[in-house]
This record gives sequence, C-alpha cells and structure tokens, in this order.
Amino acid sequence: TTRSSAELIHAESAVLAHNYHPLPVVVARAEGVWVEDVEGRRYLDMLAGYSALNFGHRHPALIEAAHRQLDRLTLTSRAFHHELLAGFAEELAALTGLEMTLPMNTGAEAVESAVKVARKWAYEVKGVPRDRATIVVAEDNFHGRTTTIVGFSTDPVARDGFGPFTPGFRVVPYNDLPALREAVDETTAAVLLEPVQGEAGVVIPDEGYLAGVREATRAAGALFIADEIQSGLGRTGTTLAVEHEGVRPDAVLLGKALGGGIVPVSAVVATREVLGVLRPGEHGSTFGGNPLAAAVGSAVVALLRTGEYQRRAAGLGAVLRDGLAALVGRGVTGFRCRGLWAGVDVDPAIGTGREIGERLLAEGVLVKDTHGSTIRLAPPLTITPEELAWALGRLAAVLER
Ligand code: PLP
Repeated sequence: TTRSSAELIHAESAVLAHNYHPLPVVVARAEGVWVEDVEGRRYLDMLAGYSALNFGHRHPALIEAAHRQLDRLTLTSRAFHHELLAGFAEELAALTGLEMTLPMNTGAEAVESAVKVARKWAYEVKGVPRDRATIVVAEDNFHGRTTTIVGFSTDPVARDGFGPFTPGFRVVPYNDLPALREAVDETTAAVLLEPVQGEAGVVIPDEGYLAGVREATRAAGALFIADEIQSGLGRTGTTLAVEHEGVRPDAVLLGKALGGGIVPVSAVVATREVLGVLRPGEHGSTFGGNPLAAAVGSAVVALLRTGEYQRRAAGLGAVLRDGLAALVGRGVTGFRCRGLWAGVDVDPAIGTGREIGERLLAEGVLVKDTHGSTIRLAPPLTITPEELAWALGRLAAVLER
C-alpha cells in the first residue's frame, strides 16, 4: 500500500531522529530541475541538494556513467587497486591546478582529512613542535557536523551539548585580513576558509580578501585550505570560487556536486608537498575512491571540462542578480549573489525564512532558509532563463502578500 505525503511525514517523526525540520513535501521522482511529490505535484528545485545537484537531477551523462559502472565493479576497498582511480585523480589535478588527491566520501570527511593532513604537514615539513599546531578558521563558518568540526563552529545550535572539543583552532572574523594576519604565527598549520560562506547566508568576502589570505599564509609558511565543497564545481560561474581572485590554495576540498547527486564523493586535492606526508595506515576510508564514486566523479569532471556549466552559472547569475535587485524594497531588504547562488534577506515583517519557504512550496518552488529571514537560492546550473524568471516571479508574488 502506498502512503500519502501526510502519512509519510507523520510516520517519519516517530522513527527518525529530529535533527532536521524538512519542508512538508515528500519527493518521489525528479528529472533536471523539476521534482514531483508522492501526489504528483511538481516543484522547481531552487536548492539543488545544497549544490550537490549542480547538474540537475539524474543528468543523463552521469546516470549513464553510474549504470555502466554498476554493471562492472562497485567496490574494491583500497586494499586493492582498481582501474578508474588514477584517471579520476589526474582529472582532479588538471581541474584544480593541484597535484594529488585523497578521496573520501562526505564533505565533513574531506574537512577532517584536511585537518589531519595539515597538522602532519606542520610537524613534518614546517617544523612546528609536536602537538602545538594551530588551524585558523573564520567566524560563522560551516564545514560539517563531526565533533572536531562543530568544535570550531561559532553557531551555538551546532556546538552546544557536543563538547569537549578538539583543541588547536583559532577563530577570526571572516573578511578581516588584519585579524587573520594577527592570528597566523609560527604554529599555524593552515588557514581553513570557505571562499564564499554558504550556510552563513552566501556571504561574499570583499575583493582582495582571498588574495590577501593567500599572501598572508605564504608569508607565514602556512597552508591555505579552501573549502569549496559548496562553492566549487561551477556554482559561482567558475570551476572554483577562488578563481574569482586568481588564487591557488595549497589544498582544495571538494564534495557535494562531485558525486553528481548520485553517490557521496569528496576529495582533498592538494600539492604533493601536502598530501605527500601521508604514509600507509595513517588515514583511510573503506568507501573513499570506490569504483562507482570514481566513475561518477570522472563524469562530473568531464562535464566541467566543457566550461558550459560555469558559463551558464555566470550568465544566469546576472539574471538572478537583476531579478533580486528588482525585489529590493519590495519585501527583500538585501541580497548577496555570486554566479547562480544567492542569499536573500527577507523583511522579517513579511515572514521568517521558514515561512517564505512554506509559501514558495505552495507556489511550486523548493527553497531552504538559513538563519532568521534569509533564504538561499541555488538551482541546478541546468535551469533555463525562463524557469529562473518564473521562480523569481513566484518569490515576488509570495513577498507581496
Ligand atoms: N563544507 C561546506 C562549505 C559545506 O557547505 C558543507 C555542507 O553543507 C560541508 C562542508 C559538509 O558536507 P557534508 O554534509 O557532505 O558532510
């Protein structure tokens, strides 16, 4: 027997941990930018799985790569080699301008792995005294949900009740170069930053900040690790968001869209000097770099190599920016936009972000709020200008009421 959306939502609340508060829609199928619920209602997906669906739902080239690999080999573990991993890592190196890859699965795992690698690099290459390494991070960061990562979060909801935490992190205000220079010293293994702060509300640093971070870390002999898990892979109109300032970090963290919305795939991509510190047994993952993940990841990189998605994000981003600018003063108090990615502050008198999300849901548009009255827009990069205009029209209608 099939259950209705209402029955399924009710059933979930009894048997699932309540660590999410989803909008009341139960998705049954999807293609491209459109999803359909259990009752057959259609919605335009303006969240795209927090940018894991940059290429849309079930992109034909990605589904084909997954099918082909499913019929051949899915898992070896890293106890053995398989024939796709070398190619995948070569492609990631070419895509990022870096050299070596440490394959993992989720974003948080990539961040955790980068923290470990940066510390080891600090002891073995930089010469920091044992157990004294520090990592500089930014206020309002979001890097994932593990204990070490939430330990350097500044969001009380993410942190409170989960300590004690891993020491060795210094928190500085985002977009504040003097504060960052002050925090970096001879113990600093790395500065770890989001080039655009996604969960914080799509916060874009001032022009020159990322280049300044690069300069400050180079001067202090520390690594610059860019968490591009949400900002990377075409979203901002370039392959990586750091390209907006022509910056090359020592390590780039990729996830979300790297798995094409099909399988979890993440990676630390870095210089040989950095990833060269790992020796057998010091780090690992049963599923990291598995054949299915590598097949889908390679297909994702192939899509990005065409440049088509980056161009789309840049071009559609201008449409998004113009559309949002027209709403300022008409329910929107401010917005930040880079490529096809926007944080939109709604007048709190009109509703919370949650309420706006619920009203948009009724209008056939899926979005997700962040803090307070901010909603974020990050549709698949495959969206058409007409679809984007339609979604903006629905937003305008919701804000008018
Ligand atoms: N880093 C950034 C910048 C993110 O936006 C996220 C997820 O939203 C993560 C890391 C964590 O990724 P995951 O949820 O796959 O662990």
